[in-house]
Amino acid sequence: MDLRPSVTNVRRPLLERVLDVVRELGNPRDLQATLELIASSTVQVLGFDAAAIKVSAGTQMRVAAVAGPPAIWKLLGQSAPTSQWLKTIERGQALGNLRHFDPKTTRLILTQLGVRYPDSDEPGSEGRPEQGLPEEILMAPMWNAAGDLIGALCVDDTGPDRRPDVEQQTVLELFAAQAAIAIVQALSRDESEAGRLDAEGRWRLTFERSPIGAAIINTDGIVAEPNDTLVRLLGYPRAELTQRDFASITHPDDVNVDVSLFIELLKGERDSYEIEKRYIHADGHVVSAILHVGAIRDEAGGIRSIIGQLNDISDRKRAEAELAHRSSHDPVTALPNRASLEEHLNGMLSRRQRAGVLFLDIDRFKTINDSLGHEAGDELLSVVTSKLRAVTGASNFLARVGGDEFAVVVPERTDSAELVHLGNEVLASLEQPLTIRGHRHTVTVSIGVAATRPAHRHADEILREADQAMLRAKRHGRARVEVYDPTQDRPATVEDLRLEHSLRTALVDGAGLVPYFQPIISLTANTVVGYEALIRWQHPERGLLEPDDFLPLAEKTGLIVPLGWWMLQTSCSAVTDPALAGGDKSWVAVNVSGSQLGRGRLVGAIERALDASGVSADRLHLEITETALIEASSSAIHEVREVAELGVQVALDDFGTGYSSLTLLRDLPVSVVKIDRSFVAPIGIDRSATAIVRRLIALCQELGVDTVAEGVETQSQLTALRALGCSQAQGYLIGPPERLPDHRLGIASAVEPLRFRRSSA
Ligand code: C2E
Ligand code: CA
Ligand code: CA
Repeated sequence: MDLRPSVTNVRRPLLERVLDVVRELGNPRDLQATLELIASSTVQVLGFDAAAIKVSAGTQMRVAAVAGPPAIWKLLGQSAPTSQWLKTIERGQALGNLRHFDPKTTRLILTQLGVRYPDSDEPGSEGRPEQGLPEEILMAPMWNAAGDLIGALCVDDTGPDRRPDVEQQTVLELFAAQAAIAIVQALSRDESEAGRLDAEGRWRLTFERSPIGAAIINTDGIVAEPNDTLVRLLGYPRAELTQRDFASITHPDDVNVDVSLFIELLKGERDSYEIEKRYIHADGHVVSAILHVGAIRDEAGGIRSIIGQLNDISDRKRAEAELAHRSSHDPVTALPNRASLEEHLNGMLSRRQRAGVLFLDIDRFKTINDSLGHEAGDELLSVVTSKLRAVTGASNFLARVGGDEFAVVVPERTDSAELVHLGNEVLASLEQPLTIRGHRHTVTVSIGVAATRPAHRHADEILREADQAMLRAKRHGRARVEVYDPTQDRPATVEDLRLEHSLRTALVDGAGLVPYFQPIISLTANTVVGYEALIRWQHPERGLLEPDDFLPLAEKTGLIVPLGWWMLQTSCSAVTDPALAGGDKSWVAVNVSGSQLGRGRLVGAIERALDASGVSADRLHLEITETALIEASSSAIHEVREVAELGVQVALDDFGTGYSSLTLLRDLPVSVVKIDRSFVAPIGIDRSATAIVRRLIALCQELGVDTVAEGVETQSQLTALRALGCSQAQGYLIGPPERLPDHRLGIASAVEPLRFRRSSA
């Protein structure tokens, strides 16, 4: 018996080959022959390496028909309990109605069917069965109307490249459905009814039960005989659908293509066509589908019937749309992300459309995130997003560009006053505290404003400008709007690069870097109790540079970190220098940048500096700015605590310039507060400033924290501070920062080699 279907030309469209098989199946034959035909067609039409059909008989499922390599034929006649198959099906990965089984489950299945796997210890075998047996299986289970498992069509699906596409999956299901029908008919006691089904009847049954939407279409394009699946898919009552022509239920944009292809089919210019198109469901929504239309011709070449076959790909389309949305949107706030912002802006730039850009950054978001947790952080972002949406309106493009950064694109607005006005409205909208997880939080943002100019080529350029303006807003105390100013916010210049290069060179051996020391006196004893170490740089060409000339660059490039360690070591060695008054009790206060914290290196660096200089921990103070401490991560705070436990004093520098609440003092390991110069200057002049300092000093006294007044320049300031109970003072009045005589300092020899130097050697 020839099991091969009458399919020879593999390049013919799949639909036609499937129809051939279906027609072939219409010829009467017994169950065994039908199953064999389906198994071999599965291999030949769909291109799987092997196929096997199992049929339920009683409590067992038996391999009734196979196609493929010799190894598969050995499975023929093998059986396993149906209950076991039901369990196995649950272990498969669902692909629509199909189940895919991984190598482990496949092995289990084959073992149940009597396949012996070589011992996996056996060298070279890797536990593989005989060549030709599948390592992965794809199964189309067959169920009867009562929901019992009556059989299964299995194919060899080994290898990730073998996964069938939607069309192949559908055909596989169709073949399984036909096998199921054949099995049901054979099992049916009512032999007479089954017998009455002629070829046409079988074909019709197959067609009607097909999981693919299908219809016989007449030459007027009327959907004359839709199957159940199609009726369900399109939602029209059958009676209505059978009166309609396909164009009337097609998405208007897809009508022309479909109709002209249909006409070509009628004219005999083609036998079939396949398009992706959209239908309008009865309830109005769009159904996306892949449509195959094929003509079956009589001997004379006239059209006998036209069959339309429709694979619903709406799910896939939805998934694709969701994927596209995901790649362009931020999942937390559902706002467009940076990539879509850039695309949007680039589009505007290329159309020469003008726009203003607001770049917003939430102030101290890190603190909120670290202290309340990421979920609360996400919630905060969502709340801020809705506030921003409300203020910026629908006509402006709002995006989340980074962790706590947002951007607003305002089309046609380049006037900075208008943009600043919008920025101020954003600030005002955030004045009321936000409730996050039952707690109220005051949130502020810093905003930078920039506008398109003809010179802008890429979104990146304008975003960078707005970003720089935002950074200036941060520097100027946050919760404010700044406009991009090319003279203040310039990007790195050649000059910067040169300076960076020479700073790197200087850091290799410390040449040119000089610590200056400024005395600090006790206001009760009136004697020098310590010094603050302040860096200077004797630049080979530019002369003596002040910190303001190069520290911003050092911060930006990260050089502040090795520089900080260098200052720490150098200052510890210098504190014992006899040129520093105060004897062997005076301490040195070293400034520590926020960048030096939270890297796990602070404690070690301090221990090394103390060891190398032989100075005890109580003679070292670390000055950390209020801002750096507030923005420090919990690991950084932990480091600072450890340092405090060593006996090193921690001073809160520039107090009053940040936003810290006084209660923060209780939680931080701080034993000294340095009152910023801006509070000291108006003492005795401005009554409210004096009142603030008075309260601050009183609070510190209560907490047992020392206070150091910075920038004391006049005698009256000093007198007032003493009267207010301030512990210590520093300033030009007492003494300016000064360098030690070089020969006493002996920097290069006394200092342990820098890590920086070692790693670059
Ligand atoms: P700071 O920590 O607030 O240091 C005090 C600054 O005030 C010093 O400026 C000092 O020279 C200046 N000053 C002292 N007395 C008076 C006064 O009576 N009147 C006025 N108007 N100013 C006074 P300097 O040396 O220019 O340092 C500026 C900033 O640079 C420092 O501010 C500190 O934040 C940073 N800095 C200096 N050295 C280092 C360092 O080694 N590491 C780090 N991370 N930062 C440093
Ligand atoms: Ca300082
Ligand atoms: Ca200071």
